[in-house]
Amino acid sequence: MIPAAFEYHRPKNVQDAIGILVEHGDEARVLAGGHSLIPMMKLRMAAIEHLVDLQDVDGLSGISIDGGRITIGAMTTQHELITHDGLATAAPILREAALQIADPQVRYVGTIGGNVANGDPGNDMPGLMQCLDASFTLVGPDGTREVAARDFYEAAYMTERSDEEILTAISFNATAGGYSYEKQKRKIGDYATAAAAVLLQKDGDTCTGASIAMTNLSDTPVFSEAAGAALTGTSVGKADIEAAVAAALSDIDPTEDNRGPVEFKRHVAAVVIARAITRAWSRA
Ligand code: FAD
Repeated sequence: MIPAAFEYHRPKNVQDAIGILVEHGDEARVLAGGHSLIPMMKLRMAAIEHLVDLQDVDGLSGISIDGGRITIGAMTTQHELITHDGLATAAPILREAALQIADPQVRYVGTIGGNVANGDPGNDMPGLMQCLDASFTLVGPDGTREVAARDFYEAAYMTERSDEEILTAISFNATAGGYSYEKQKRKIGDYATAAAAVLLQKDGDTCTGASIAMTNLSDTPVFSEAAGAALTGTSVGKADIEAAVAAALSDIDPTEDNRGPVEFKRHVAAVVIARAITRAWSRA
């Protein structure tokens, strides 16, 4: 199918882009890589009258690592996340997760900003950003504000971002210790049936910190504080992992769809969470 008619805008700076969003309200939508929005428009699941393309807006791309703080411009592509050597050292879980998104063609144009702003529970970056305790920079007509990834997602396709705000950057601390992003999908290029992001810190044989978040197991990404707490202070043995998995499962609320019934999703979730913890611990 082809999308319904729309007017195309190509502003050069953030303020002009916001001006167009303010002028047209909920009839306008930002366009980044277009790899979530355009398919929705083609399927007539979204009818947008004004598309505000961010391609020419200055200052929205690139990765900077300043001391221990990493900042990624919203228009940075998933391909750039994979090929940036500094990022691979400072936060290797980004590359591991980005490599599991779709296929190279999608990753060449799909952006990190579009992936986190979209609000699709199937997107991989939101859960990862919650695991990293990332912060999102939103710019709107009333100025700039920071929103924690863990507070950003309200329901499927509903976020803390207002219609007139643009996500300009994402920032988080460089990671230390072990990491893993584990994803189970039906076939190469598919969205997750279930996925888990895990970061673990280790001192001697003891886990001194754990952060665990999940993808596509509720209508939002899920950060499980209880799962992390179940591992902290332990030696991450079999019983500790089982306790963390049980805690994580009590935080999710999957629904039946073409990826399977609820019982199957809970089973797959348990498998990917346990695998992610085991791999992260082996790397810690
Ligand atoms: P767009 O499609 O341009 O925008 C998506 C939404 O975010 C729109 O509502 C738009 O208005 C809003 N938006 C975009 N940027 C901003 C901004 N800076 N500020 C405010 N709002 C903004 N994703 C995964 O995570 N995992 C997968 O396995 C996966 N598989 C895919 C398979 C296929 C075949 C395809 C086509 C896509 C797949 N995707 C997957 C989605 C892909 O990663 C998208 O590129 C991504 O979700 C959205 O990024 P985008 O830059 O294309 O955003």
